[in-house]
Amino acid sequence: MANGIEALANLTGLPESEVQRIADEVRANLARLNACGAHTFVRIEPAPPTRPKYRCEACGGAVDHHAYRWYALGLEHARGGAQS
Ligand SMILES: [Zn+2]
Repeated sequence: MANGIEALANLTGLPESEVQRIADEVRANLARLNACGAHTFVRIEPAPPTRPKYRCEACGGAVDHHAYRWYALGLEHARGGAQS
């Protein structure tokens, strides 16, 4: 992992400590999402209108609008809703 951190630091120009902090944050977010039994996402405000993000009120994990959209659609389909 250290080599990956170094490579990303070189690629982005960010200090390795910052790249490591972001990687730790992403890993912790995924762990929260994976451990959650049923997400209840709410939109995080303020957010840019073209790139909204959502946070689960149950686990605290956050997702982008693509993940939110597919999760919401999956719930709708599971309920037998519209096949859109
Ligand atoms: Zn959740």
